[in-house]
Amino acid sequence: MIRLLRFQGISERVLDAMARVPRHLFVPENVLENAYEDVPLPIGEGQTISAPNMVAVMCDLLDVRNGDKVLEVGTGLGYHAAILSILAGSGMVYTVERKPELAYKAREIYKKLGLINIDVIIGDGSEGFPEHAPYDRISVAAAAPDIPGPLIDELKDGGRMVIPVGHYYQDLYLVEKAGGQVKTYNKGGVAFVPLVGKYGFQ
Ligand code: SAH
Repeated sequence: MIRLLRFQGISERVLDAMARVPRHLFVPENVLENAYEDVPLPIGEGQTISAPNMVAVMCDLLDVRNGDKVLEVGTGLGYHAAILSILAGSGMVYTVERKPELAYKAREIYKKLGLINIDVIIGDGSEGFPEHAPYDRISVAAAAPDIPGPLIDELKDGGRMVIPVGHYYQDLYLVEKAGGQVKTYNKGGVAFVPLVGKYGFQ
């Protein structure tokens, strides 16, 4: 899997982090044999674990630095957040999931792996997570109708966010906040489950 991603031009820093996270622990039993294929897989509750290539591209765009405070929206079973937590090093990852059953399972996996710099919060991440705002980096793993206002507000000046936007057709956006100005860059077509919530789909 790592060799394939390297071939696709993913940075060594992100590849190193991904090599340290056993993806098979984040997929259900019935798809275990596909754990290291570059495909999204069903994780129950009608949700999916993102394809490794998508996680890698988003991590490279986000450019998480050691010590960063990171917010992730859409934990699922927690694969992407685990990689973010390794990239954040001495920093911290807060990841919000609206489906409690998935959040509980993610917490169990983190306990097993001894990952202590991730907090799994149950709630509507489209509203952000004001408790620890502002964030250096925000990573959204579900497609929003628009970039939610609260997430822009909770981004630090100098911060970055990656977020898929759209309904049937979605694009991945890189959002940069600098000098109080917000710039967005379209990084091309993607396919994510919908962000459901107050600033997501109903
Ligand atoms: N980050 C995951 C991807 C999970 S799929 C990975 O590593 O594979 C996206 C997840 O977003 C789903 O689990 C879904 O339940 C969740 N989600 C959708 N809308 C949400 C919202 N408003 N707040 C928090 N989580 C949400």
